[in-house]
Parts: sequence; structure tokens; C-alpha cells
Amino acid sequence: MSLDDLYRETIIEHSQSPSNKRALDTADRQARGYNPLCGDDVTVYLALDGDRIAEATFTGRGCAICEASASMLTEAVAGRPVDEALGLARAVEALVRTGQSQEDLGELNALGGVHRFAARAKCATLAWKSLQQALAGPGA
Ligand code: ZN
Repeated sequence: MSLDDLYRETIIEHSQSPSNKRALDTADRQARGYNPLCGDDVTVYLALDGDRIAEATFTGRGCAICEASASMLTEAVAGRPVDEALGLARAVEALVRTGQSQEDLGELNALGGVHRFAARAKCATLAWKSLQQALAGPGA
């Protein structure tokens, strides 16, 4: 199995059975993102514990890339300090833009393939933009 196949499989698995796809009653922050190019519409919910993200969930509807990215986001940022989560968001944006990353992003590397399809970049980064917006904004 090539790396491309592996990445494709990761995207498909996450889009078909997304992790943490539900509203979060205990959310301290939330932000909704919309991608008019594709119709992706995603809300990210975060429960904070001091300056750490205790739990992350999402709701909405998007294409496979968008939903897979949101699903991986909720897994990747849970338990992380806020500044680390923001660093991860920047790393994912760079990965989607260039196809490469300075650090090992684990499963998130699957989003790197998107760089060959510029029109899909917003699909891959939408949830991460919502995360940044949620963390920048006032409490919910
Ligand atoms: Zn999309």
C-alpha cells in the first residue's frame, strides 16, 4: 500500500465515522466556519480547563476532507495546552499549503495530499480556522 493510499484511507475512515461529532453542552468556546466554495459548514466546540483544552467536538456538514479534518482535529487537540493547539493549527495550514511539515503530525499528515488540489485547501483547514477563532474569541 502506498503512502497516498494510506492517507486516502485515513481520510475516508474519519469521514465515514467521524470522532467526537456532537455538540458539547459544557463548551466554553465555539466557532462556526463556512466554506462557500464547497458548502462545508462546521462548528467546533471546546471545553477548557485553565489554559488546556479538556475536550473538543464538532457538528455540521462537509465533504469528506472537511469532516475528516474536523474529526482528526478533535482527537489531536484534546488534552493539549491552548498554545500547543494553536501551533498545531499553524502546522496543519502549512502542511495543506505545501504538502510538507517541519514536525511529525501523525495522522494529520494525511491532509498533506490536499496541497495538490488548491481548491480543496479550505476544506482541509476550515475546522482549524474555527478552532483558532474559538480560542481567540470571548467565552461562549
Ligand atoms: Zn469541502
